[in-house]
Amino acid sequence: MISTVGAFSQATVAAIAAEPAGPMDADSERLYAITPDAEAREFAGGVRVRVVRAGWFRPDAGGFFGVVPKPLWSRLVEADERGRILCRLNLLLVESVGKRLLVETGTGERMRDKDRDIKGIEGGNPAVALQAVDVDPDTIDFVIVSHLHYDHAGGMVGADGRPLFARARYVVQRDEAAAARGDELRLQGIMETEQLELVRAAGQLAEVHGDVEVVPGVTVIPTGGHTRGSQAVMIGQAASAQENGVAERAVFFGDLIPTRWQLPVRWTSAFDDYPVEAVEVRHRLLTRVVDDGWWCYFTHDPGALPVQLERTEKGAIAVRASTRGV
Ligand SMILES: [Zn+2]
Repeated sequence: MISTVGAFSQATVAAIAAEPAGPMDADSERLYAITPDAEAREFAGGVRVRVVRAGWFRPDAGGFFGVVPKPLWSRLVEADERGRILCRLNLLLVESVGKRLLVETGTGERMRDKDRDIKGIEGGNPAVALQAVDVDPDTIDFVIVSHLHYDHAGGMVGADGRPLFARARYVVQRDEAAAARGDELRLQGIMETEQLELVRAAGQLAEVHGDVEVVPGVTVIPTGGHTRGSQAVMIGQAASAQENGVAERAVFFGDLIPTRWQLPVRWTSAFDDYPVEAVEVRHRLLTRVVDDGWWCYFTHDPGALPVQLERTEKGAIAVRASTRGV
């Protein structure tokens, strides 16, 4: 059962706001950044994770917060004069058993200027972002794409139509690929179908179905909710976590929970295709995250990552620990 406390309450907002998400001024921050090597986090099984900041975008606040009334969300984040909020394009650089994985590809640079302006995109090309922080895109073995919306899959291929990561296999849930190719009117023009097909034509698409361990300690799990085939990423090997008695694991939610502001499970976005399912899955996943002390990475959060969560006295879920990070 989902607690009735904290659906749209002031207490929920207070709990989230207790941990500020960080500076909300794009001008004062570097466009591209990476967690310093010495501060990379290591999870069970020796899986190392760094956050790569690949630029900014500004989604429409009303769409982003969906069912949540403005008097509540506006206590957490300020909208600009066009009604947009400043969000990060966060990628993860994950290393395990000598393999390198990139989680998400940002917006890329194939959008029309008008669309980039409406969405307030700065940067967004994942290969440029990696090069800016001295990571060679050709060293990436796998690219995990949480779902096929523009701000996650837009950087799968470059302006020339070739995959930006020449050696990588691109991991996408089969259900997501099917939705992108399907005939649902809501999805027309929203999914990065053309890029998906270019990756497939290059022989670099790995359509997966269900929970799949891509490399030891890095597992994709379908969540649905946000889109039909959305997937989250579990980081850290379960077996070694149990041996140590330590649960040093982490989860990357994709847009199922895009920032810490969406920790209340009912705070669904207008971009969630299956909001009823999203609430249920978020509740199940967050319960495990809190109970087992997993670290959390958010795909659009401007604050320091990762964070751990806790349940407040009033039953809301809130960020627990401040962490250093980019
Ligand atoms: Zn997104």
